[in-house]
Amino acid sequence: METVAKTSVVFIPTKQTPAVTQIKAAAPNYKPGRFETAITWWRIKTRIFFFACIILKKPQTVIATFKKMISLRNNVWGGDLKKLHKIDGKYYFNQYTPGWPSRAYDELIKGELRRQADGNRSEKLSFIFLAITRKCPMRCEHCFEWDNLNQKESFTKEDLFTVVDMYQREGVLQIHFSGGEPMARFKDLLPLIRHASKKTECWVLSSGFNFTEKNAGLLKEAGCKGVVISIDHYIEELHNLFRGNPGAFAGAVQAVAAARKAGMVTSLSVCVTKAFLDGHHLDPYMAFAKNLGVQFVQVLEPRSVGHYEGQAVQLEEKHISMLETAFKKFNHSAGYTDYPTMLYHGYHQRRVGCFSGSRSVYIDSGGDVHACPFCHTKSYNIIDLIRKQVTALPVKENSCPQFSRIA
Ligand code: SF4
Repeated sequence: METVAKTSVVFIPTKQTPAVTQIKAAAPNYKPGRFETAITWWRIKTRIFFFACIILKKPQTVIATFKKMISLRNNVWGGDLKKLHKIDGKYYFNQYTPGWPSRAYDELIKGELRRQADGNRSEKLSFIFLAITRKCPMRCEHCFEWDNLNQKESFTKEDLFTVVDMYQREGVLQIHFSGGEPMARFKDLLPLIRHASKKTECWVLSSGFNFTEKNAGLLKEAGCKGVVISIDHYIEELHNLFRGNPGAFAGAVQAVAAARKAGMVTSLSVCVTKAFLDGHHLDPYMAFAKNLGVQFVQVLEPRSVGHYEGQAVQLEEKHISMLETAFKKFNHSAGYTDYPTMLYHGYHQRRVGCFSGSRSVYIDSGGDVHACPFCHTKSYNIIDLIRKQVTALPVKENSCPQFSRIA
């Protein structure tokens, strides 16, 4: 098994890369003003209350459930999140929530209201990650698919269409296509998104490989709404070292530009190692993300799975505290309104539990179904079900083994 040197070097760049400067000039970011934001949040909350009245009927239940929803939201975001991004006529405040207004957003809210009102454990999944390929040109330090990479494909093209159909029948509202590197299987990814996007909001998670302007335009035209590009450092050499590929940074930055130019919601994903946090790289990283013009930054804690298996990568208390402080600052402080929204799952996981397993699952490139990419909790194999011509999904929840389940 190939090993990659760990990033322990700490230095601060003296200037932005030319690529970053080009992107700023290439595609302006539309951010709703204060009035538009306030009105939009009022409309969203009013609609949630309206659905609560229609579905729950009894005034006491309506009020109690609406309050529960607001409280859950505040726990997830560390306060009353005001940030909104408007792309292609829809508002986004989270990369895991469909844009508003949309049928998918309404269905998500209706399901959550029912769940919160009666703790209905059989409420359906709303979201899946689907790893469509084992191919990948990267060799990332933290890869959770490490043991599956670059082997013979498990999913045929037909299997992938069948998987999408099976989960759509179960009411899934959002699919994030991953891998391996999904853009390494572009000729199958494109028709798959064209098919899936008729009923479901589609996103692509990529390292930036093969994410050219032309391919970004084709994805958008096929119905892809959002893209998450992994950039694990704002310093080119350190990102390339982390990804085990000398062209990783240039490809990722160009992918961000291409996604924005095509008009897709664009997010960065960063695995924050101890060295990254000890080197105080989070603030400059957020400034880098702001300059790239992305709407979201997803901060992931390293876990001892896949390529990190057996390594002491778990963050310490001091690192968690740094992340929580930054999470509140970038999402709520007055001086940071023009920064991307920061997603940090560890914040709500340590307070109210984890959404994975009950609301979402991760289907790896071998067809095994887990709670999430980081918690390998295989409960069934979707390819086995397809071969046996089973059309209904097992009623079996993948509980998060690390954090409690959110009610
Ligand atoms: S983390 Fe993603 S991009 Fe990196 S090696 Fe694994 S599958 Fe490839």
